[in-house]
Amino acid sequence: MFNLVIFGPPGAGKGTQSAKIIDKYKLAHISTGDMFRMHISQDTELGKRVKQILADGLLVPDSITIDMLEEEVQRNPDVSGFIFDGFPRTVNQAEALDTFLEGKGEKIDLVLQLDVTEAEIKDRIAERKKVSGRADDDEDKLLKRIDEYFSKTIHVLPFYQNQGKVVKVNGIGQIDLIFGTICEAIDNAKVD
Ligand code: AMP
Repeated sequence: MFNLVIFGPPGAGKGTQSAKIIDKYKLAHISTGDMFRMHISQDTELGKRVKQILADGLLVPDSITIDMLEEEVQRNPDVSGFIFDGFPRTVNQAEALDTFLEGKGEKIDLVLQLDVTEAEIKDRIAERKKVSGRADDDEDKLLKRIDEYFSKTIHVLPFYQNQGKVVKVNGIGQIDLIFGTICEAIDNAKVD
């Protein structure tokens, strides 16, 4: 199995690059943000609990997020690996993921950090909003989400840096060029 975390602020291109990675490497995509949005659109019990949290651009509590993610992994027993997109966002989640994978004889093999400036993020989110009309991307919520990233999520990086798993990729530029750099990082991690 090959398990990858794609890491970066909201709007860094994680979704775009994940789609290309899945296509090439045949990994199963787990996006906790997509899962929450699906629950909200289907008005499930979970959706009702997290709707306001997403609307406010805040993080969903770890217990809810970790349970949802673990269930999704369990539902896909036969895949050749996972790409975790938008998870983990806290050190607690990262620790829980390590413990969970360890219990299955698995581990995280690579953490790709998509590095982009705040201005680039804002441009991308404005563009994405036009296309998808995603409700949580309102301008006033944007700063909150970016703030959550730089105040909380960023602290997950040292956790993986200490494990020697982080490869930083410049997220600014042409999608295919960025993807080329990502493929190099994945191919290197696969032979290690
Ligand atoms: P995303 O599409 O990954 O930017 O996620 C959208 C929203 O879903 C976030 O702003 C959070 O409210 C929530 N969310 C997604 N993933 C997580 C996570 N790992 N931990 C907590 N909240 C999350």
